[in-house]
Amino acid sequence: MTTITLVQGDITEQSVDAVVNAANSSLLGGGGVDGAIHRRGGPAILEDCRRLRAGHYGKGLPTGRAVATTAGDLDARWVIHTVGPVYSASEDRSALLASCYRESLRVADELGARTVAFPAVSAGVYGWPMDDAARIAVRTVREAETDAEEVRFVLFDEEAYDAFARQVR
Ligand code: ADP
Repeated sequence: MTTITLVQGDITEQSVDAVVNAANSSLLGGGGVDGAIHRRGGPAILEDCRRLRAGHYGKGLPTGRAVATTAGDLDARWVIHTVGPVYSASEDRSALLASCYRESLRVADELGARTVAFPAVSAGVYGWPMDDAARIAVRTVREAETDAEEVRFVLFDEEAYDAFARQVR
């Protein structure tokens, strides 16, 4: 049984088994959540990401997929990097956004992570409208078959928190 919890705050300050990063496919850093995770988690995360790029993920991590690295100095054991789709008004990319949550939880299960923190993937620089991002996130986690005991959505501001709260209640 997975419990969904909501927190307004900074995902890099969470104590969980796994923190999910809204990464970009290069895995080599970016803004938003990605920048914050690398800043606070320190260089060990980027070192792992470079290793992934040198190995199995030579072309980067495809949209909708997820891969784990160390969490460096974060109060977590792993960072699970997932690449959300860029929002498009003309093309429905919701399946890819749902895949980010499903694949991240699959990786979490493989690792044995029981508490997993997610940001609102794609709802920042990638432009996904927050209400719809929240709807897809909550529905996908609810429907996922996962061993995670807690999935914690960590929302940066009140607008995001309220959007997720409307979906959870
Ligand atoms: P994407 O590129 O997938 O859109 P972003 O990192 O730009 O990802 O934004 C995703 C969401 O995370 C946005 O709602 C943004 O406000 C929020 N966010 C940014 N920094 C943090 C943080 N440190 N902790 C939690 N959420 C954050």
